[in-house]
Amino acid sequence: MANAGLDASLDQSNNAFGHPVTPGPWLLLGSHTDTVPAGGRLDGAFGVIAALEIARSLPGKVAAVSFHDEEGVSGRGPSGSRLFCASPVINRIAGFLELHIEQGPVLDSEELELGVVDSIVGIDLYDVTIGGEPNHAGTTPFHLRRDAGRAAARLIAGLKDLVLALDPNAVATVGYVTLEPGASNVVPGVAKMTLEVRSGTPESLHLAREAIREELTRLCKEEGCEGQLTGVRSSMPIAMSQPYVNKLAAACQRSGRPWRHINSGAGHDAAVLARHVLTGMLFVPSLNGFSHSPREHTDDRLLVQGCQVLCDAAQEIAQTLG
Ligand SMILES: [Zn+2]
Repeated sequence: MANAGLDASLDQSNNAFGHPVTPGPWLLLGSHTDTVPAGGRLDGAFGVIAALEIARSLPGKVAAVSFHDEEGVSGRGPSGSRLFCASPVINRIAGFLELHIEQGPVLDSEELELGVVDSIVGIDLYDVTIGGEPNHAGTTPFHLRRDAGRAAARLIAGLKDLVLALDPNAVATVGYVTLEPGASNVVPGVAKMTLEVRSGTPESLHLAREAIREELTRLCKEEGCEGQLTGVRSSMPIAMSQPYVNKLAAACQRSGRPWRHINSGAGHDAAVLARHVLTGMLFVPSLNGFSHSPREHTDDRLLVQGCQVLCDAAQEIAQTLG
């Protein structure tokens, strides 16, 4: 950071922050340098290196940060950016831009080189419990069963169409299922599963909750079971700031390279910053969508290009600062 002309320090939460010697306000660029076990080399670190390069190119207006504990491996991430936003230094920040790999397959599969993030998803996590009647698997005919496993399987199988009909950008996942008593010769009496819904808008999270509840009730009635949907955790989606979305989109357009608007399905420090200052986020493709894996990769040409486009947008924004 000192080499990029910034006055650098570590704060109480181990965020490395460097700012120009000017009084501010500054445009803050950065990401995180913590990672996950067996993670790749780009998740987070790419955005920090880009921030330093851009701070070097645009002296006087741009501050840089490497946030601590974004992933939550060593704490309850993203704790670094949350504590940064609770500190007085946030009052000297005019806005925040984060450059990151997509960590998903959308840009790569569509052969696009840049993604302007519109919003970072909200996540609703539920527990689903279905109660039926455990019984003998040989003597109980289909029409006399109250098979909790069958009701659960029907809900899982229909989830994709149910959610896509409400929001083509939403996703839902059942990642964990148990059947009780759990024997090959007993009709399941209880099915328990997790159900997670992710979407870029609070409206579709709400609609999905209602639709899943109705479908669970309908299927359970048909199968002679009883279903319960219980909320475990909910985080709201957060939109990126429209003026910064526009600046990033204009910079992508000027680059002449193929790009699109995109929602982020993963959480980021930008979601924290966006609750406090103007915030924008730019993605470069992840080859085959791999991330949190040593197979994470983006061609150097696309990394450099992402940095150049972010620099272009940062320059436009920095010109408007007092
Ligand atoms: Zn990251």
